[in-house]
Amino acid sequence: MDDVSRAGPHTRIIHGGQQADPHTGAVSMPIYQTSTFAFTDADEGAARFGGAAGCKYTRLGNPTTAALERNVALLEYGCGGLGASSGMAAINSVYLTFLDSDAHIVATDCMYGPSRTVLETEYTRFGVQMTFVDSSHLDNVARALRPNTKLVYIETPANPTLKLTDIARCADIAHGAGALLAVDNTFASPYLQNPLQLGADIVVHSMTKFINGHTDVVAGMIVAREEEVLERIRKVHVNIGGTMDPHQAWLVLRGIKTLGLRVERAQENARALAYFLQRHSEVAWVNYPGLVDHPQHALMKQQMRGPGAIVCFGVRGGLEAGRRLIDSVELATLAVSLGGIETLIEHPASMTHAGVALEERLKAGITDDLVRIAVGCEDYDDLEKDLEQALEKATTEAVAGAR
Ligand SMILES: *Cc1c(COP(=O)(O)O)cnc(C)c1O
Repeated sequence: MDDVSRAGPHTRIIHGGQQADPHTGAVSMPIYQTSTFAFTDADEGAARFGGAAGCKYTRLGNPTTAALERNVALLEYGCGGLGASSGMAAINSVYLTFLDSDAHIVATDCMYGPSRTVLETEYTRFGVQMTFVDSSHLDNVARALRPNTKLVYIETPANPTLKLTDIARCADIAHGAGALLAVDNTFASPYLQNPLQLGADIVVHSMTKFINGHTDVVAGMIVAREEEVLERIRKVHVNIGGTMDPHQAWLVLRGIKTLGLRVERAQENARALAYFLQRHSEVAWVNYPGLVDHPQHALMKQQMRGPGAIVCFGVRGGLEAGRRLIDSVELATLAVSLGGIETLIEHPASMTHAGVALEERLKAGITDDLVRIAVGCEDYDDLEKDLEQALEKATTEAVAGAR
């Protein structure tokens, strides 16, 4: 099928932007493991550097990376993509393209830890101004805008509070002030949410998570809605050197084929686990946008195809009980990251968000008792059994310790 842009989601994932290798007919995109490409003569070399089609040097573009870029760009309804060596490389190329020394950025307060700390510790060195707001309330975004605001940068669902930001309305607010809207779509994946269709200008992904899905690659992607925006970022990105290696691209091309299958299954597990936790007497609270009593359940249904596979909850007994729970799980692995086929569990206050100042962390809703579980594709009954025994250990030991 040549044009799959109107096909169903799984077909788009498997075939989007892909064709058999023109040189050999290889069905799986070969790994073009080369740093440079020979020109037939001086004219061809000059033409390629002048903008003609064809490869020049892998940092500037590579056929294997290009296949992945076409695929993710199609899934995100963008004009094109830029593979990145990591999610953070993708994010920094976006920051660096639009944040001049007198520019201002408005960003989600509870976003991925390093996305925030790099702004606070590095970009401030160059005079960039920033305001972090709870973007789930759009009034906060509107109030934070300044005449020099160049970029509104949101993460939805945000990490790890799972707060959602209304992408369409946020795009209107940003555009009204002459700023671009960039969205970190890592938590939802392109299978569940497409910010460019809702009016955003740029999407970034840590493909380390759901897109690759096998916990064996670190990688990122930038997709833009308009050519002009993509080309501005491309210039910065290739010169900074945050581009992707062809072997890395091939691994992600292999992983992404099952994105839809994996997300469907993990989401089914997450939903069941959220209900189980909600009914459990030792669980103080559960945060999952798929629960009908979640305050943003309606917004989730409006802008996402499903609530995803991350569940956050608090254990009765606070920090200590939470730590014991994490130490007691046997099937779930104690590790940061998410979106893999295996279930991972972590404690944001002491791990992923330890770098955020306490006051800021609490203001962003990352409480000490918050446990984040990135639900994988195991059999549901095994996951429930594991959490059941871990909750029992965490809370009986709490009682014993209190005596
Ligand atoms: C992991 C993650 C990143 C960073 O990606 P890396 O691939 O680790 O560089 C950025 N944003 C979100 C939401 C993430 O989960």
